[in-house]
Amino acid sequence: MKKEKLWESILAEVQLAISPTKFNTWFKNTELMEYENGKIKIAVPNAFTKEWLKNKHNETIIEAVKSVGEKVDRVDYIIEQNTRRKKKKKKEEIKKEDNEGQMEFEEFQIDKKSNLNPKYTFENFIVGPFNELSHAAAYAVAENPGKVYNPLFIYGKVGLGKTHLLQSIGNEVKKSSKKVKYIPAQKFITGVVNGIKNGQMEHFKSKYKDIDVLIIDDIQFLSGKEKTQEEFFHTFNDLYEKNKQIILSSDRPPKSIRSLTERLRSRFEGGMIADINFPDLETRLAILKTKAQEKKFNISEEVSSYIAENIQKNIRELEGALNKLVAHHKLTGKKITKKEAEKILKNILESPTKNVSSSQITKAVSKFYDISENDLKGSSRKKEIVKPRQVAMYLLREELEYSFPFIGKKMGGKDHTTVMYSYKKIKKKLDTDEDIKEEISLIKQMMLSV
Ligand code: ADP
Ligand code: MG
Repeated sequence: MKKEKLWESILAEVQLAISPTKFNTWFKNTELMEYENGKIKIAVPNAFTKEWLKNKHNETIIEAVKSVGEKVDRVDYIIEQNTRRKKKKKKEEIKKEDNEGQMEFEEFQIDKKSNLNPKYTFENFIVGPFNELSHAAAYAVAENPGKVYNPLFIYGKVGLGKTHLLQSIGNEVKKSSKKVKYIPAQKFITGVVNGIKNGQMEHFKSKYKDIDVLIIDDIQFLSGKEKTQEEFFHTFNDLYEKNKQIILSSDRPPKSIRSLTERLRSRFEGGMIADINFPDLETRLAILKTKAQEKKFNISEEVSSYIAENIQKNIRELEGALNKLVAHHKLTGKKITKKEAEKILKNILESPTKNVSSSQITKAVSKFYDISENDLKGSSRKKEIVKPRQVAMYLLREELEYSFPFIGKKMGGKDHTTVMYSYKKIKKKLDTDEDIKEEISLIKQMMLSV
């Protein structure tokens, strides 16, 4: 198949799996650059898109490629400023450009059967007081799946190592002949929705029939999805009755997951629940040093203290800061001093939304929902415009603490009661609606680069 044609059919599959807004935002300006022996290179317009596709939609892409009947072992994202201009670059040039974007050239070798990423193992998982209990429970389960804690439920805030720990169990178990399957809850939901839509529920169910260890990540996304919960309840029971191991993660404990049916909640609570907390300073230093060593990067005491003192609640961010320094070092060949580090990390260490302007907010919102700024500030009552408008008002209030009348003025002369109503409406929605939560977090990221 020709590249363009192939990409078209892959995109058609992607479109089925994600919302139109997300599709427009992240996939519109992408192209298939290379496709060879299961290695795929996708051209993206900027570093930001690259990161989002890599972090949020990699799985979707892999699934889509598979569903058009092609093999895929590895996906790379290449920043290609002008994707529509069909200009072929030499491989060296592409590599260089990638480095200049200061992004890691990361490989994906996700195992197709289990969905596991081999880079997450117990060996490179650092243990400290903050995650000791979860680690011990995970390790015990990996040693004796189905026998000790069932289900194992790990919870903790974002970026604290849930996925890493869950996948470590999977990779450990996989060493024996046991069948493991890892799946993010979002994907499970998509599977159920598509299964129903296409009348292929039996096929979907059969995927979970004879596995020994089922790992479902970010189970909080099941909140409010009744049909999926019902399906999951049956899958859960089938496996549980056969003494198969079930491992779950969530950003909160079972009792705090809203609109979760009682019977699922009590199943989750029937095994072992362990949390991952924020790491203390000492552990943060240990993590930084270990990761620096892995990357063969010589980090000074002063610089690691500076990072560890400033990033306290997210290991992914800790790693991200380190990666930035490594990239800078590779580029300039210079040793990174504390002063240098302060300069390089300025943007990520300051609260990311502190310096945002009102026009960045409205730009990001209109870009995200794919509507014009005129419409956003206009008076159309169409649903697809009203919601973005309310989101914009909400963000202007939250991020910039503008008064309601001032926001009204900024938004094309709206009454302050309208602004107040919009703000409250979105705020309330955020309590229950996971989709809007994700949309707003994506918009916040986007604000920084519009
Ligand atoms: P979560 O799923 O909780 O959001 P992840 O498991 O994705 O978090 O972790 C974020 C990043 O931090 C990953 O790159 C992971 O490898 C790393 N990480 C998290 N916890 C640890 C740890 N204890 N030791 C080493 N790396 C960790
Ligand atoms: Mg995770």
